[in-house]
Formats: sequence, C-alpha cells, structure tokens
Amino acid sequence: MRETTGREQALSEEAEVAGVLADLADQGYAITGQRRALVSYVLALPGCFTSSQLLSSLHSDRIHVGRATVFRTLELLERLGYLSRVAEGERSAYAVCKPGHHHHLVCSGCGQVLHLADCPMSDLLAQLEQRTGYRIERHQLEIAGLCPECQQSEVQS
Ligand SMILES: [Zn+2]
Ligand SMILES: [Zn+2]
Ligand SMILES: [Zn+2]
Repeated sequence: MRETTGREQALSEEAEVAGVLADLADQGYAITGQRRALVSYVLALPGCFTSSQLLSSLHSDRIHVGRATVFRTLELLERLGYLSRVAEGERSAYAVCKPGHHHHLVCSGCGQVLHLADCPMSDLLAQLEQRTGYRIERHQLEIAGLCPECQQSEVQS
C-alpha cells in the first residue's frame, strides 16, 4: 500500500458516488436530486475544505443546496467514514476519505491531504498495552507540513 493524495482519492471516489449514495439510502436517507449533486460534488474535492468554503464554492458553481442539507450531509458522510476532519492550521476542515483507520498528512500551504497507508502507531500502541495493561480504544495523530510543490514555490518567491 502507498499513500494517496486527495486528487487521486477524489478521482477514484467519483466512480464510487453511487456506492456512497447506496450507503446513505441504507441509513434511511432519501436520495434527492440535491443530495445526489452535493455528494458527487463533495467527493470530487481534491484538498481539504471547511464548511463555509464548501458553501461559497457551491454558490459560485451555481449548485443550489440548502445550508441545512449541506451541514447534515457533511455530518453523515463523516459518520460513514467518507469524510474526515483534519486540522488545517487553526481551523478544522474536512477531507474526502475512505472508511478505515488511517492518518493524514496535511499541507499547511495548499491544504493537500495525504492519506497514510497504515497506522504508524500500531506497534507502539501494542507495546503500551502490554506495558500498562490498558486496552487502548482510540488515538489521534495529526501531521502537518509543506508539500513538495509548496516548498518549490517558497524557494521561487
Ligand atoms: Zn483519509
Ligand atoms: Zn502544498
Ligand atoms: Zn492510528
């Protein structure tokens, strides 16, 4: 397994819109034309985004979806694992994601999100359980940095 960027993720996700919609329908949510348009729009977003950024880009792309529907759909997609919350600087943003435990490397310049293929903490956590007798239930790991492209433009400017 290797790391995937948001862009690659977005392209492969686009083919999976139907699957995500089926998941939503399984949860008892009506698949309206609005929600279908919103889900395929969100899953194609390459980097991380805040809910207010999403609202304004929906607006400028003339996709008319009510605010409440946007917030409810974001919440739902997060719960199903298709979106993750990532820290972009001080703000909490969303990134398009796949279900399953993993961590993210977020570029503080452009907001590109790298999805790490496996959990770098799993050995450490197993040792910790052995040493302490705890059963570890959850953990968080946030990694931020500057992607190669942003380092490049830093040198040029
Ligand atoms: Zn992810
Ligand atoms: Zn960057
Ligand atoms: Zn982990």
